[in-house]
Amino acid sequence: MPQRKVRVRFAPSPTGPLHIGGVRTALYNYLFAKKNRGDLILRIEDTDSQRFVQGAEEYIINSFEWLGVSFDEGPHQGGKYGPYRQSERKSLYKQYVDQLLDKGLAYFAFDTAEQLEHKRNEIANFQYDASTRLAMVNSLTLPEKEVQSRIDSGQQYVVRIKIEPNQLISVNDLIRGEVNVNSSVLDDKVLYKSADNLPTYHLANIVDDHLMAITHVIRGEEWLPSTPLHVLLYRYFGWEDTMPAFSHLPLLLKPEGNGKLSKRDGDRLGFPVFPLQWADPATRAIFSGYREEGYLPEALINFLVLLGWNPGNDREILSLNEMISLFSLERCSKSGAKFDYKKSEWFNHQYIQLKSNEEIAHLFYPLLKARKVDTSLDKVIKIVGLVKERINFIDELWDQAAFFFIAPVVYDEKTVKKRWKEDSPEKMQELVVILQEIDDFSVYSVEKVVTSWIESKGYHMGNIMNAFRLALVGESKGPHIFDIIEVLGKEEVVGRLEKAIAELK
Ligand code: GLU
Repeated sequence: MPQRKVRVRFAPSPTGPLHIGGVRTALYNYLFAKKNRGDLILRIEDTDSQRFVQGAEEYIINSFEWLGVSFDEGPHQGGKYGPYRQSERKSLYKQYVDQLLDKGLAYFAFDTAEQLEHKRNEIANFQYDASTRLAMVNSLTLPEKEVQSRIDSGQQYVVRIKIEPNQLISVNDLIRGEVNVNSSVLDDKVLYKSADNLPTYHLANIVDDHLMAITHVIRGEEWLPSTPLHVLLYRYFGWEDTMPAFSHLPLLLKPEGNGKLSKRDGDRLGFPVFPLQWADPATRAIFSGYREEGYLPEALINFLVLLGWNPGNDREILSLNEMISLFSLERCSKSGAKFDYKKSEWFNHQYIQLKSNEEIAHLFYPLLKARKVDTSLDKVIKIVGLVKERINFIDELWDQAAFFFIAPVVYDEKTVKKRWKEDSPEKMQELVVILQEIDDFSVYSVEKVVTSWIESKGYHMGNIMNAFRLALVGESKGPHIFDIIEVLGKEEVVGRLEKAIAELK
């Protein structure tokens, strides 16, 4: 068989905001597609109208746009295998159900909810399968004529797959290796419901994978139990030759490592589990997202890529292109990955350092605007360069840099006690005179003049500089003092000194 072009898909059900685990699944599909010069398809699995949530599809699309994960085909961009929403493919599934019915590989079942409930009470661990199906109300037990008349009279039915017991179903998972299952453990799953004229997830999922020429299914571990049924469906349809290869990604675990990561862990420990903010249309509850919490998309991607995959060495900072060239399913792990959200903060810090001061300044600028700070971009760029190594998130810049824009209103009490000596007003007054005579207010020039003044007078370097910093910043923090001086400029520095002298006495 000729090599088929690699085609993978991310197939979310729009039942709410995209969970961070789904983001990782999509990312791995993206990397696998790009690495193999293949296509990544976005398919919306919206056949379950009961669980459909308004806005979820748009949310998914916006999330990937923010993250820089792009699709080759999908509901918003089209493609030659469309439509890409299952709700728009409705009419297409019935013929596949009919194929299975014609071949005797599926059957109609008329059991009502009450009848099923009754069986469940009667038989422990009841399962609709070879051992029970002949005691149920279906086309295997009813005369053909009655089946037809029930259907003709509009009685609701479902179509179930007919699974033969005691057959070996073997799934060759590219991450987990061979997984063997005895067909007897499977139940005759519902493939189609007359009530809404729609296929269930299983049927639509494999029919679409087939029609969209999907070569690899890469999805979360929670789908592993469905895979034997999917393999069987490929067999029933006679599509074994083009059956995609399956890979099931490891679970994302709670930061403590005990059990599956849930939304509640995020609430409990204070980290988002959604990429973007989500406003629940039903409850109006607002859930914050990574974007709103100040994460850079590259940092989030880099954090996620290492939760279940490694590049084969201990490199941690990887660009998207490097991830693409290094990615392989063989390097994905079978065991769950702890969601160490503290590490995501570290990644954000690293990515902030990697960005130019100008880029960071552009991200910071709106926050300054919101605080009605009127300043030039050039100045912001300079300030960013002085303080960015101290922050993990863009909004922490305000805390670190506010004093550049606003002169101290109050002086930190403890610092005053410790650093503002009896002779400080007098020394600062002298300093004012010295500073006023300097024409070139650049770092080195001011530093030279000020230090030689201190030395020539035999003053205590530490005492003078501490009082100076207190006057400029209002407390004892901040970058190198002469850098601060250069940014503030002569007039501002002198003004702040005079204000401190007057107020602190
Ligand atoms: N619609 C399923 C989901 O929401 C797709 C699973 C798969 O990738 O096959 O995750």
